[in-house]
Formats: sequence, C-alpha cells, structure tokens
Amino acid sequence: MAQKIFLSPPHMTGQEEAYIEEAFRTNWIAPLGPNVDAFEKEVAQLIGVKAALAVQSGTAAIHLALELLGVGKDDIVFCSSLTFVASANPILYQGAVPVFIDSEPDTWNMSPEALERALKEAAQLNRLPKAIIIVHLYGQPAKMNALKKLADQYEVPIVEDAAESLGSMYELKSSGTHGAFGIYSFNGNKIITTSGGGMLVSDNEIAIERARFFATQAKDPAPYYQHSLKGYNYRMSNVLAGVGRAQLKALDQRVTARREVYKRYEQALKDLDLIMMPELQGTRSNRWLTAFTIKRESNLLPEDLIHALEAEQIESRRVWKPLHLQPLFKEAAYYSHRKGEDIAADLFKRGVCLPSGSNLQQEDQHRVIETIRQTAEYAVVNKKVL
Ligand SMILES: *Cc1c(COP(=O)(O)O)cnc(C)c1O
Repeated sequence: MAQKIFLSPPHMTGQEEAYIEEAFRTNWIAPLGPNVDAFEKEVAQLIGVKAALAVQSGTAAIHLALELLGVGKDDIVFCSSLTFVASANPILYQGAVPVFIDSEPDTWNMSPEALERALKEAAQLNRLPKAIIIVHLYGQPAKMNALKKLADQYEVPIVEDAAESLGSMYELKSSGTHGAFGIYSFNGNKIITTSGGGMLVSDNEIAIERARFFATQAKDPAPYYQHSLKGYNYRMSNVLAGVGRAQLKALDQRVTARREVYKRYEQALKDLDLIMMPELQGTRSNRWLTAFTIKRESNLLPEDLIHALEAEQIESRRVWKPLHLQPLFKEAAYYSHRKGEDIAADLFKRGVCLPSGSNLQQEDQHRVIETIRQTAEYAVVNKKVL
C-alpha cells in the first residue's frame, strides 16, 4: 500500500533537538526561560514589530488581543466568516457577539464592500464593534489598505489573524503587522510549528507587557500571590520555544517550498475545470495550502475529488465551512459581499485544499496530480455520456 500523503504535516529541520537538549541540560523545563525570551525577540525582529508574546496557541493569542482591546459582555466583534472556528471562539469566551463579514473574490478574504456596509449600519445604530478580526486565508493577505481605511474611519482596531500567513507579505510588510495586534499559530499543521503554540505581536510594547501579565495569571507586583484581575495560564513552555527557534530559521525555505508546491499544481492542472486561489498583486502568499475552486459548469463535486484522493491514501480537505453557516453561530448577523452574493458560501461549495507540505516529495505530488486528473477527466466523460 502506498504511503499516506498528509495535507500539511510538520517538517522538522533536524536542529530542534539541540535546543531541546539545551533546555534539559540547563533544567529550563518550566514554562518561560531563555528559549521563550529569544523566540519572542527573533519573531519580532523577523517580521518587524516592536514586541511579541509567545503563548500556548494561536487561539490564546486572539483571546488576549480581545481582552486587551476591552472586549467584554455583549460587545460586538466583526470577524471574517470564511475561516477556522478558532478565529471567532475567543469572541464567545468574552461573552461578546460576533458579526460575520463575507469574503471578496480576489483574495477570498474580508470584503471591504461588506465591511463598509456593516460599519455604516453599526454606526447608525450606535453599536460599532470593539474590534475587527481579519483573517489571511491559506497564507493570502487580505486587502489591508481598503480594510484599514474603513477601520480607521470608524476608529475600530484591527486584530490580524495571521495564523496561516506567517512569512507572507503585504506591500513589503509582513502579514500580521498591519493592525493593532497580529497573531500567529505554531500548531502542528502550520508553516512552522512548536507542536502547539502561538504568538501575539504588536508595535505597542505596553500592550504586549499587559498581555504578558494576563497570560501569567494576572499576578500583581506584590511580594506574595495577589490578584486583582482575572488572568490566564497561556505562556509557552521553554522546551517548545526551543523547537520554534529552530523552525523559525527555516521559515524562508518553507515559504519557498510551499510556493513551489503551488506552482507545480498550477502548471499540472491548468487545463482542467479548476480555478486556483488567486494571489493579489502587491502581496506574496506563503501558499500555506494550495486551494482551488471547481468551475461552476463542471459536474465534478469537491467530495468526489476528496473521496478519490482518499482512496489513494491522500489527504485533502474542503475549504473552511464559513462561520455564518455553522450551527454554533446560527444567531449571528452576516454581511455578504454584495446583496444576494455570498462569496464565502460559494467558495465553500466549490473549494478544495490539496496536500501542500514543504516536505511533500515530487513523486508524491505527482500521485496527487494524477489522481485529480483522472477524477476530473472521468467527470468530463461522464457529463458527455449524460
Ligand atoms: C490554526 C488557526 C488558528 C488557531 O491556532 P491554534 O494555534 O490552533 O489555536 C486560528 N485561526 C486560523 C485561521 C487558523 O488556521
């Protein structure tokens, strides 16, 4: 039986053990320690921000950002709809109310048109959101200039969910550094990993210090354990930060490799009824996952393709099911790109993500491509017979 091909498996550099060994040798096993401090500095330097806080997950980083922005009970938070549930769960942790914003076709990310309508209506009702969570899907940066202009006009801070877009660029500036806060994830499937982990970043050093306080049980500066505010235990372990340091050194190579994976798919599938996820001019996606949609006129369904790949021991996925279509959020308000034009729902209906690991071997990728080609060609033949 052929070996299983995974969607986005971890890709170790071989240098991780040296950092782990050092942590053991110096007995820095507890959370915090020199690897954590160094990892924070190295990430901040690489992406060009003043401060960073290493935490246990990307979700925790989003949660801290909302806490810092004063998001509380019954406050409104806008959020991209086409994303993983982790983008919006922290809104619920705070007892706040999510309002979902549709995608636009050029980047699959938050639609400035939809955001403008949502902000205008919110202003009229005197219910402006406390924050806007903007996701950079599969590595592709959103249209930040247009989105930021609107957010600034209404004075609403932006939290960039850059969990999938570490190493991506928007107009020569790192994805995740354009809003009040940015967050990254180092979960096992992301472009680099600490097995599990995340990072909160900002140019506001005071805010990051405040986040550090909340992430360490909100311990008051007293000679004993005194607490005046509700805190969390969110800090990253020194052992895992060591893994992150080794991984970070390979980030550039990982981006290059994923972009090459994308290019090979694009080249090999270009005559089929598929449309690859676009890359907006002025942006450089890390191509965390290669994604495409099946053309409307095709009779090929995403699940047919996924099943065919599965039969060949190849893991692929549907595009995220939009959050406004999730049972969890059935009460939430939603602003579509244009009236009667739900882009996120359409991308979900027709979208597929392919194995995109930076360690995907060319012969394995060839297997994926052959399976897609056969399935797509079979669908075309079938259509003719019908
Ligand atoms: C992975 C991911 C997260 C959450 O990161 P964790 O580290 O798994 O908590 C948040 N948002 C998006 C878009 C993600 O893909």
